[in-house]
Amino acid sequence: MAKKANSSNHCSFCGRSEQEVNLLISGMTGFICDMCAEQAHEIVNDSFQSNTKSDMDLTLPTLPKPAQIKDFLDLYVIKQENAKRFLSVSVYNHYKRILQKSGKDDVEIEKSNIIMVGETGTGKTLLARTIAKMLQVPFTIVDATVLTEAGYVGEDIESILTRLLQVADYNVNAAERGIVFIDEIDKIARKSDNPSITRDVSGEGVQQGLLKLLEGSVVNVPPQGGRKHPEQRMIAVNTKNILFICGGAFDGIEKKIAQRLNTRVVGYAAGNQSSAIDRNNLMKYITPLDLKSFGLIPEIIGRLPVLTYLEPLDREALLRILAEPKNSIIRQYQKLFEMDGVTLSFEHNACEYIVDKAIEFKLGARGLRSIVEAIMIEAMFTLPSEEKNEEKRKMHVTREYAAGQLEKSDLHHLKVA
Ligand code: ADP
Repeated sequence: MAKKANSSNHCSFCGRSEQEVNLLISGMTGFICDMCAEQAHEIVNDSFQSNTKSDMDLTLPTLPKPAQIKDFLDLYVIKQENAKRFLSVSVYNHYKRILQKSGKDDVEIEKSNIIMVGETGTGKTLLARTIAKMLQVPFTIVDATVLTEAGYVGEDIESILTRLLQVADYNVNAAERGIVFIDEIDKIARKSDNPSITRDVSGEGVQQGLLKLLEGSVVNVPPQGGRKHPEQRMIAVNTKNILFICGGAFDGIEKKIAQRLNTRVVGYAAGNQSSAIDRNNLMKYITPLDLKSFGLIPEIIGRLPVLTYLEPLDREALLRILAEPKNSIIRQYQKLFEMDGVTLSFEHNACEYIVDKAIEFKLGARGLRSIVEAIMIEAMFTLPSEEKNEEKRKMHVTREYAAGQLEKSDLHHLKVA
């Protein structure tokens, strides 16, 4: 252990004598003064930071710029321009913030957690997943509906971080820079305006718990999760640099937006403003105020400063989703068939049929896959065991074939619903 040196000694690093420094510490064969010790500490810190940077392959020059992030999102996600732009900028800023060198004079960049509002199946999870794919950081999705206050049936808030640790292979450093997507955040809205009527263990209580994570604090996380292993040693995780992206459908929030817009329109400058409002997509006028009237507590809203919306997907968007994205449903089936030596193609009419059924069954984008699956199941069952001819086999899905197969399937019964 190092001990204090006596007066005739000099620092082995800078050569200053004990009189010239505040403190000279002696080692086995030399001395170090307080100033050099501090400098050494900074060097160690810097090299530690660059190590963790290479951990996640991110440096300021190699960090993708917002336009690049958006280009990447465009490959996988159809439409949703607003959400893509907001996400790209927030994620870019978030990583700039992480890579920021810690210096005394630096302006501290505040964390910019994100909240995305939009109907179910419009691409919220897909956006978050795609971003994580691009940045190669630990990413996890949690469902807010399973969370409850500690001590009640359900999962503790800390379980969110357990999952992040697990996908990061328990590399705490990597997990502390990860992305968490909290789905169905609207389901933990306060159930009533009067919080004291009953205990609201899956509503406001969870919001309060979540607040701690969003704010950035050191949380003791059970590495195995749950309450089944009370003996497990906790791992301390700092949430300061974890990016939280929340998503929710907020069913019925359009009504609140409409109410607010009306009162405002009546309040001043009626005519022009009301005619300029796009009534088919009220979501684009969403403000934090609407989240508050929906039942999110102001503190949570304050910690989710980036608010963006997703548009409802129309027929044209669904048609594009079927074929255009890099790993679109059609491309996935083509790949599956190609592995059996079959070239698969879809008639445009067949695509229109699939989309119309998804709309009719009120399944949206989420339903496209189940419908294609129902149409392709028979071919997927029989084709692999058929004799292989010399020439490459082809399968062309026509509207008639698609309709015939869907009629046979259980999915067809959705029509009555
Ligand atoms: P949400 O999280 O909004 O409920 P998801 O992102 O889980 O919806 O979407 C469900 C599925 O629908 C996705 O896996 C994807 O196949 C498809 N999908 C939804 N929206 C889009 C979109 N905008 N672009 C491409 N595919 C989409």
